[in-house]
Amino acid sequence: MKLHEYQARDLLAKYGIPVTRGGVAVTPGEARAVAESIGGPVVVKAQVFVGGRGKAGGVKLADTPEQAEQVASQILGMSIKGLTVEKVLVAEAISYTKEIYLSAILDRAAKRVTMIASAEGGVEIEEVARTNPDAIIKISAHPHLGLLDFQARELAFGIGLTDGKQARQFAQIASALYRVFVESDASLAEINPLVIRADGSLQALDSKVLLDDSALFRHPDLAALRDSSDEPEAELRAREADLTYIKLDGTIGCMVNGAGLAMATMDVVKLYGGEPANFLDIGGGAGKEKVKAALQIILADPNVKAVMFNIFGGITRVDEVARGIVAALEEVQTDVPMVARLTGTNEEEGRRILAASRLIPAATLAEAAEKAVAAARGA
Ligand code: GDP
Ligand code: MN
Repeated sequence: MKLHEYQARDLLAKYGIPVTRGGVAVTPGEARAVAESIGGPVVVKAQVFVGGRGKAGGVKLADTPEQAEQVASQILGMSIKGLTVEKVLVAEAISYTKEIYLSAILDRAAKRVTMIASAEGGVEIEEVARTNPDAIIKISAHPHLGLLDFQARELAFGIGLTDGKQARQFAQIASALYRVFVESDASLAEINPLVIRADGSLQALDSKVLLDDSALFRHPDLAALRDSSDEPEAELRAREADLTYIKLDGTIGCMVNGAGLAMATMDVVKLYGGEPANFLDIGGGAGKEKVKAALQIILADPNVKAVMFNIFGGITRVDEVARGIVAALEEVQTDVPMVARLTGTNEEEGRRILAASRLIPAATLAEAAEKAVAAARGA
């Protein structure tokens, strides 16, 4: 789950990271009011889930509340990389002499939470990694001891902050960001840019926090911040139906129970020359309602030319899923061809139930994939 910048900065502020004063606005008039309460120049920033808003014209400075209102009227409603701006953050504008990059991520190779810092802030870190990899410092935290003070200071020295007071402030911010990451079960906590002001102090101007969906149940306060407006409709529906669904670009819709089987199904579809339209795990014990929701989600994708069911009955009984498919088909209108391979517990009963339906039966996974690929091609 992604947090908006205005939510991320509130989270960072709770950990003592210096963020600018500001507020959110959904109308130009509100933006003006926030600017008035700040008093002085402000920056008006589009709140959409993409980076590079600055370059896209979604971040603009305004000297007066009137200007803030005018700039907000330009940004609100504009489209950035396909997303419509519905909210802006109006924040105190800061003048600075330098931009720094700082983040906490999970380094899967090191199997540790890792801090990344670069003296080349303001641009995307992937860009720095490509053009000037030596400008990036990485330090991994110990899994039990956390990020130690000397490590935080090493980060500071590594990016050239040699002034004692400044290095100390940077180290404090790095330690706080590390705690944000760990205590919110984040997958990314990033400040870019972290700027150095004329008086030498540091200030976070932009932040980004991604949360691990699997750990959200531990953070009801953070889960409540979810903004579904930018989430693809299908993914939203899948989450509500408790299905794991990832849209892909192919033409063969896959409905499978179990994540491993779903991946194997996608591989076999590709082996037979097809491209999967999705990854979908309907999970164990899927009854009619789940199958129906899954089918609707798959068929809502206009690219889908055939649907392939691959069900392995273990604890989930095949006949139950077959009844779910038949019941779902009664309620979902479609002429997209469908192939079913059902095997495992109660498979004979399952096949008998499906025999009366229009599903194309397949005895093996290979046969199912071959038939689905042919059906998608209109053969
Ligand atoms: P992003 O492009 O989506 O990463 O959005 P940012 O919030 O990082 O803004 C992009 C750029 O706008 C920053 O790198 C800064 O150069 C500039 N910017 C943002 N806030 C301020 C501010 O308060 N003062 C000044 N002078 N520039 C700012
Ligand atoms: Mn940024």
